[in-house]
Amino acid sequence: MRVILKLGTSTLSGSDGLPCRERLRGYAAALAELRAGGHQPLIVSSGAVACGRARLGWAGGSVIEKQQLAAVGQPLLMRFWEEALATQDLVCAQILLTRADLERRRGYLNARSTLLGLLARGVVPVVNENDTVATEEIRLGDNDTLSARVAALTEADLLILLTDREALYERDPAVDPKAQPIREVGPGPIPEAVRRAASAAGGRFGTGGMATKLEAALLARRAGVRVVIASGGDPRTVLRIAEGEAIGTCFHPEEETLAARKRYLLALTPAGRLHVDPGAARALSEGRSLLTVGLMRVEGAFERGDAVSILAPGGAELARGLVNYDAEDLARLCGRRSQEIARLLGYHYGDEAVHRDHLVML
Ligand code: GLU
Repeated sequence: MRVILKLGTSTLSGSDGLPCRERLRGYAAALAELRAGGHQPLIVSSGAVACGRARLGWAGGSVIEKQQLAAVGQPLLMRFWEEALATQDLVCAQILLTRADLERRRGYLNARSTLLGLLARGVVPVVNENDTVATEEIRLGDNDTLSARVAALTEADLLILLTDREALYERDPAVDPKAQPIREVGPGPIPEAVRRAASAAGGRFGTGGMATKLEAALLARRAGVRVVIASGGDPRTVLRIAEGEAIGTCFHPEEETLAARKRYLLALTPAGRLHVDPGAARALSEGRSLLTVGLMRVEGAFERGDAVSILAPGGAELARGLVNYDAEDLARLCGRRSQEIARLLGYHYGDEAVHRDHLVML
């Protein structure tokens, strides 16, 4: 199971504003257990700005000042993660993203293949927003949204949004001690009570607050990801959630990941057409990837990561998919074997013209 843990500044930091070593080590131990159980955990960690503040002893205010703080704090934040994960013999990787990176399909595909490659190697990616370069237009602004995007990008099974509350409560428990937690939100439309609960609790907890957590949960569940909002106080909670224990507030996915991916792919306008030979058409119908050797002709001007339609020898549309190479390169690869790609292009984005994970049969 692929699991995203989103940790906010207030969940990580001690009273000095720096991440709390002991808590990070607790999370490292939980992550090691997840890996040992065959899962693929990934962290989305805030804390760069807070680390920068602690290091410089300066609060900053404007966006530009916060970017400076993040630039100072990000390496410090990674040092804490590196040190904590090393206690469990885990290797971490820093991934800094902006909204623009995830919206350009090329950036999306590159981020995706790097993340999946790292996970397959047993590395724990630690993702944050690239605050230094993220001007207003390309900012996600909060890591709740970032974590949902990353969950969709990596087709995660589970996103755990860790916060300082046990769950999303129907009313603020500080005001009304009898307020009950909302345990489950089904796949249909969001009940008004849930929206009200989230906006009532908004703004008070970290950058995100419950309102952005709810938005993030809705975004992720549309991509087929189960989302749990729970307290980050005890790192072992994530193990119990991964085992399926009912903790915090759980949002059930709207549809299967597969269906979500299919819908996403079909919504894109194809930027070109790939004509394939009968062998490739057969391979596709058996659920395999489209290899360059089966390509006969390429039409259109498209970039790596764009959607294309795939046509059988008679011209019937067989499938839609996202290409690994741009039109010019694919034209050069028609009929060529995968082993020749690196020599012909001078680089290699994968053996496939279209990987089966990015393919929908029609
Ligand atoms: N990227 C910001 C940081 O690392 C945090 C954003 C958030 O907490 O949502 O400080």
